[in-house]
Amino acid sequence: MGKILLTGGMGFIGSHTAVELLEGGYDVLIVDDLSNSEASVLDRVETITGKRPGFVQADVADAGKMEKIFSENAIDAVIHFAGFKAVGESVAKPLEYYRNNLDSTLTLLETMKKHDCRTIIFSSSATVYGDNSPAPFAEDAPTGNCTNPYGWTKYMIEQILKGLSLAAPKMFIGILRYFNPIGAHPSGLIGEKPNGIPNNLLPYVTQTAAGIREKLSIFGNDYPTKDGTGVRDFIHVVDLAKGHVATLKYAEKGACGVEIFNLGTGVGYSVLDIVNTFERVNGVKVPHVFAPRRPGDIAECYSNPTRANTILGWKTAKTLDDMCRDAWNWQQKGSRA
Ligand code: UDP
Repeated sequence: MGKILLTGGMGFIGSHTAVELLEGGYDVLIVDDLSNSEASVLDRVETITGKRPGFVQADVADAGKMEKIFSENAIDAVIHFAGFKAVGESVAKPLEYYRNNLDSTLTLLETMKKHDCRTIIFSSSATVYGDNSPAPFAEDAPTGNCTNPYGWTKYMIEQILKGLSLAAPKMFIGILRYFNPIGAHPSGLIGEKPNGIPNNLLPYVTQTAAGIREKLSIFGNDYPTKDGTGVRDFIHVVDLAKGHVATLKYAEKGACGVEIFNLGTGVGYSVLDIVNTFERVNGVKVPHVFAPRRPGDIAECYSNPTRANTILGWKTAKTLDDMCRDAWNWQQKGSRA
């Protein structure tokens, strides 16, 4: 088994994937500029797995540093997590989002080409399905009509990768469309650490339960859903991380071309389901109020995960109870250390 380069490997999804790869016997090298993560993640990954991943602090858009990484290491495959990811911020700072997410990807791909590295797995998002058609979304559902620059960067990078595949048909290009990753490693040592006031639901819920936020605003209770609140496909981050290992194993069997996989459970839960489950499994209160819909949100977004289930032999194993319990464990334990 070879050396796998994880760009953005110190972040929420990257660090969990590093753990799964190390536990699967892979050699892991992380490149991350620590702009949205902390150096202590390395120690924590080592505590969990007993192995320390390699680490280079660098911006993936820095061609000189990327060249150095590829000349000094025999990289067999890249998992590309690095990127700006805050939806609201992307609306306020579109140029920064397009520059950062596209530039870093192009620099990475150019460096891979130069060193004949033929396997890349890219972190895409269910946001590329936009509001073109109703859920559940299969991989062949229409894409585009994204509602913010963050989503468009994911869409554009997918197009770049498809174009590259036509010119480089021997490459394996895995495009993983994530649904809503939540939860944390059961050890409580790694998890999601948002900067400032959280935008995403689960960090807001955990911080409200912890008393850091006064109350959760539930954005919209008049959607055409079972209880009026938005419905999403919440997936445990450990299941999501395992989806990357399954994709890598599929590539190792000699697959080439572009392969797109949804990583989701296939089940939609509402915002109220999350609040109720979180309160029940953790025995805590999450004070909440109903507020107007958030611009850009759709009523329902959940996956049809059949393609990943059948082709990758990957399926989610964790329940909503697990997700809520692990998120709270992380909030109380790891996120404060
Ligand atoms: N949401 C909410 N209050 C919050 C944050 C999110 O009601 O403080 C809702 C949001 O409207 C959506 C769901 O929770 O229906 C998931 O939102 P999140 O931002 O976590 O992920 P998204 O699906 O937008 O990528």
